[in-house]
Amino acid sequence: MIPEDHPRYRSLKVRESLAEAARRGILSLEGLTAHGRGEAFDYLIGERTTASAAEAERLCALLLMSARRPVISVNGNSAALAASAIAELQKASGAAVEVNLFHRTEERMACVSRYLAEHGVVVLSGVCERLVPLGHDRGLCLPDGIGSADVILVPLEDGDRCEALRKMGRVVITIDLNPLSRTARMATLTIVDELTRALPAITAACRTEKPGVLEEIHSTIDNHRFLMEAREEMRLRLSDAMD
Ligand code: ATP
Repeated sequence: MIPEDHPRYRSLKVRESLAEAARRGILSLEGLTAHGRGEAFDYLIGERTTASAAEAERLCALLLMSARRPVISVNGNSAALAASAIAELQKASGAAVEVNLFHRTEERMACVSRYLAEHGVVVLSGVCERLVPLGHDRGLCLPDGIGSADVILVPLEDGDRCEALRKMGRVVITIDLNPLSRTARMATLTIVDELTRALPAITAACRTEKPGVLEEIHSTIDNHRFLMEAREEMRLRLSDAMD
């Protein structure tokens, strides 16, 4: 039992729910360690949404709403942390949701899909093909989903798929607290914010922004600036802590 007045109450509750998700097979054990890396970077950024990340979240909403075929790619961590928020974003943005796992078994695919459906997500189904040129199972995707998407939101991604999707000409948006990761550097747009803060912010922006012309919005995005601003926030917090 975690006391509500514990200074790290929220973080401890999230860890507890992720451990439970791992026991249920939604999250892989490896996913638990990936969460730890995210927590470390969240500490550095002050566990809050920066003005720069809020701007990236607004742009993400615009890209999703202006896409012809937007898809949200969901892995075990994203499902375990934010299934209901994904359902809300799907409703607000009109994006399709596809499950894509690195540690993929048919059983886990079914388990994650079922968990998302229980939280109101409409999950794409069908026969996956290796449409993204990768040696591992993240290359498997649905022809009607990631296979033909023009804009793909890939929260908590790994860098090689992000790079492969970019090479295929797709607009790739990621949510990644690590501004140094390959994913963050490879994406068209990186939101350096914690997933459960970022998704509701994107959903809120979908409700207020109007769709535009995808290419025009794309051409205004300077991902390097978002990464530099996140690194600067972290640097300032570290140097403040030393004073
Ligand atoms: P890359 O190949 O891009 O360098 P990586 O090896 O760091 O990726 P993973 O181990 O798959 O990638 O980790 C996923 C990323 O997600 C990490 O960079 C981590 O900082 C980030 N992350 C983990 N949890 C969260 C979260 N809740 N919100 C936002 N980002 C998170």
